[in-house]
Amino acid sequence: MRRKLAAGNWKMNGLAEALSELNELTVTYGEAPVDILICPPATLIDRASEAAEGSAVAIGGQDCHPKTSGAHTGDISAEMLRDSGASHVIIGHSERRDDHGESSTLIAAKATAAYDAGLIAVVCCGEHLSTREAGETLPHIGKQIAESLPDAATAENTVIAYEPVWAIGTGLTPTVEQIAEVHDFIRAELVARFGETTANGIRLLYGGSVKPSNAAEIFATSNVDGALVGGASLKAADFSAIIDALV
Ligand code: PEP
Repeated sequence: MRRKLAAGNWKMNGLAEALSELNELTVTYGEAPVDILICPPATLIDRASEAAEGSAVAIGGQDCHPKTSGAHTGDISAEMLRDSGASHVIIGHSERRDDHGESSTLIAAKATAAYDAGLIAVVCCGEHLSTREAGETLPHIGKQIAESLPDAATAENTVIAYEPVWAIGTGLTPTVEQIAEVHDFIRAELVARFGETTANGIRLLYGGSVKPSNAAEIFATSNVDGALVGGASLKAADFSAIIDALV
């Protein structure tokens, strides 16, 4: 039985006062029957980790460098995230793939760095609209998954987020049939590569314009084990409504 996960990605949003939203979550979810994750900007990880201590809310980074240390100005290693109190890290978000030209090979190296640091990697995949319109979604996702996941991926160290790029921050969402098609496909690809036990333990999140009004329908979809949420994770009230739809 896979434990559900509601993950929030604050992206490049949030100064110190944003911690009040996190505080609201930690009060509401001292305990929870699902896993809850907030990935604030790197500048807040330390304080967010302290604020979330003793609650059901885990804290994660939004990216990491594949190396542990060295001359990489502006980058953050997985070990540094762990040292700041993070337990998870998002890897290969489409905004990293597109804005920073990140390849799936690099993403696999980052996931390995996350494992080595004891972090859970939330590995993202997803197609652009042109890929979907060309009927190439499944081969595209299959390639991304094959290349972005290290052989060392397990149910304990890896979560996968399917995020169609055209649904991120746009208010557009795929139909539940489209979500199910991709999630069922990812599960089958995982079974083929990692075997039933590992594959059936890896959680598959959907991401892309999840909000309180559509969360329940998405969570009822085949092989959807939770959500990676951008905009609607910035306000505790909205994110709580999404968490509650998962319970
Ligand atoms: C995201 O960027 O991971 C995301 C899903 O964003 P939004 O929920 O705002 O579409």
